[in-house]
Amino acid sequence: MLVVLIDSHCHLDHLDLSSYNNSLDALLESSRKAGIERFLSVGVDMESSRRIIEIASKNDDIDVSIGLHPLQENSPVIPSIKDLIDMGTHPKVVAIGETGLDNYYGQKSSDWQKESFITHLRAANELQKPVTRHARNETIRILHNYSNQRFGGVLHCFTDTLEMAFDAIDLNFYISFSGIITFRNAGSLRETVKNIPLDRILIETDSPWLAPVPFRGKKNEPKYVSEVAKTVAEIKGITLQEVSETTSQNYRNLFF
Ligand SMILES: [Zn+2]
Repeated sequence: MLVVLIDSHCHLDHLDLSSYNNSLDALLESSRKAGIERFLSVGVDMESSRRIIEIASKNDDIDVSIGLHPLQENSPVIPSIKDLIDMGTHPKVVAIGETGLDNYYGQKSSDWQKESFITHLRAANELQKPVTRHARNETIRILHNYSNQRFGGVLHCFTDTLEMAFDAIDLNFYISFSGIITFRNAGSLRETVKNIPLDRILIETDSPWLAPVPFRGKKNEPKYVSEVAKTVAEIKGITLQEVSETTSQNYRNLFF
């Protein structure tokens, strides 16, 4: 039986289309056949956000999150709150982000990231939409001060501690897990998955990055979200069907 899943975080304008005759439509069709019923495509800057809105306008099953990725530090300008609101009122836009503090490359979160993060949170409040943010430490305080608990958001690609997950859940956030939970060395993250209630969990690919086992080293794509779903089911000792139903319901609760 085909299990229906939602990829709650992917970058449709960055996917490798070489096995699909360079056609995004062909890739999307293949994903749908594999059971993917919705995609949240996330912009990494304003140009990318604009591109994704265009793609989503032609596809009922694609939703959009707009923003400037915290690792785009070289990208000169932080969009203004007004820029974000203007673009964010488009009916296909369901969330603002990804945004947040990200010290992936080891440096401390910069003032640039903080300013950008707060700008995105303010725009999200104005738009009354949830935020997508990259999960890193040091951010709960900013979320406390600037995020709106009525609309909440999602900590995507979660790799932090259980404690941080619960702090975020208290602020009405969902926790989204990527293919990282399938990695051999991710034992403590799997322990976190086990302890977070299923009704706060989303699943994602973050494609084209972070391909799950057994596709590591290959280009990731939305249909591989099934590997994340299987791993959640395994960890929690529940059926794949249960993971499918609850995570899809969570997605709808958050974004619609
Ligand atoms: Zn991403």
